[in-house]
Amino acid sequence: MALRTIRTEGDPVLHKISRPVKEMTPKIRTLIFDMLDTMYEAMGVGLAAPQVGILKRIVTIDIGEGPIVLINPEILETSGEQTGDEGCLSVPGMAGQVTRPDYVKVKALDENMNEVIYEGTELLARAFCHEIDHLDGKMYTELVEGDLHRVTYDEDEE
Ligand code: ZN
Repeated sequence: MALRTIRTEGDPVLHKISRPVKEMTPKIRTLIFDMLDTMYEAMGVGLAAPQVGILKRIVTIDIGEGPIVLINPEILETSGEQTGDEGCLSVPGMAGQVTRPDYVKVKALDENMNEVIYEGTELLARAFCHEIDHLDGKMYTELVEGDLHRVTYDEDEE
């Protein structure tokens, strides 16, 4: 396992469309473990493969309830609306207001290529939308209402 470099805004890879994963390989398995490591190390709640420079439809998420791995995720259903601060490991130290659905149902494959269905509300619904957008080359900054603002993380406080 290893940490990967998180690409930041300005890197063209963040605006490209990722390709579906056709089969699990040792290389992809390693990528998934590296993405989880990289996400935890950066204290993020989600990471998409293009953020580490790999154009494959793979997402990792952990909102504090354990890791979720989504391969070739598809949003099946959304409802409601929530507006709140959103940030991205590729736009470090910044956040902005984004409106997202308040409920999202996702179909994907897990790391064993078995079909999984997840339903998320609040932060998890937001994370599903944000990370799946990355697979289509979309950044949350395109959706921000008003200006981005600086954020200070708890870890910086004494
Ligand atoms: Zn992001």
